[in-house]
Amino acid sequence: MSVLELGDVNGYYGNSHILFDLDLEVEQNEVVALLGRNGAGKTTTLRTITGTIPSREGTIEFRGDDISGDSVDAISNRGVKLVPEERRVFPTLTVTENMKVARDMTAGDARDIEEMYDVFPVLDELRENRGRNLSGGEQQMLSVARALIQDPDLLLLDEPTEGLAPVIVDDLYDVLSDVVDRDVTVLITEQNVDFALDLAERAYIIDKGSNAWEGTVDQLHEREDLLDEYLSVGSVEAD
Ligand code: ATP
Repeated sequence: MSVLELGDVNGYYGNSHILFDLDLEVEQNEVVALLGRNGAGKTTTLRTITGTIPSREGTIEFRGDDISGDSVDAISNRGVKLVPEERRVFPTLTVTENMKVARDMTAGDARDIEEMYDVFPVLDELRENRGRNLSGGEQQMLSVARALIQDPDLLLLDEPTEGLAPVIVDDLYDVLSDVVDRDVTVLITEQNVDFALDLAERAYIIDKGSNAWEGTVDQLHEREDLLDEYLSVGSVEAD
């Protein structure tokens, strides 16, 4: 059974029709990349899954249950956790306090804060620092750690590299590779195609809110034409 299955999903902001009959599937322990250029509808897709955009049609199944009419809280309590593009760490709380809040909000079993510090050594050194004093990369790590401490059944990462310096992107890549090695199911959106494809096994390309292509990452490495057509990038290096 799939962890997540979208069938003919349409999404709207008010009267603006953004997603058109979108299909998407994520299997257990898979890392799936959702790619597309600026404004293609990647964030909207994630928000539609989490219920943040209530105006949705079609089927959204999580572990076989239709969640398309469920509230944000109900979907979160099922273990669907979004790390939003804008990060949203609590600025006045320390790193540890930020993690405690996430841990205490968990509906099911939460993970241990010390376990998170093992995964995120950068945060270990910053335990007592307040959110507002962290760099963009450190905030992104904290944002991912807060989602992970809730032991998500499905982790949604919205453009995690957005605005980060290349050296920080490398650090984030190391951490996320470690995370996905721990059998976490992930749907990741990225404009940084190389970053996403290095982590993922399968990919979807969406264009103007519709499915444009789907396949394995290996297949996509053979299709530079798609990258030119839909992602406006020159090339992707195979591993
Ligand atoms: P980006 O990389 O820019 O985040 P994206 O693929 O995530 O791109 P979305 O943010 O999902 O794209 O935006 C899809 C479309 O929805 C765009 O045309 C955008 O202008 C529109 N849109 C986004 N947010 C809203 C909103 N709150 N109200 C109305 N339209 C919106």
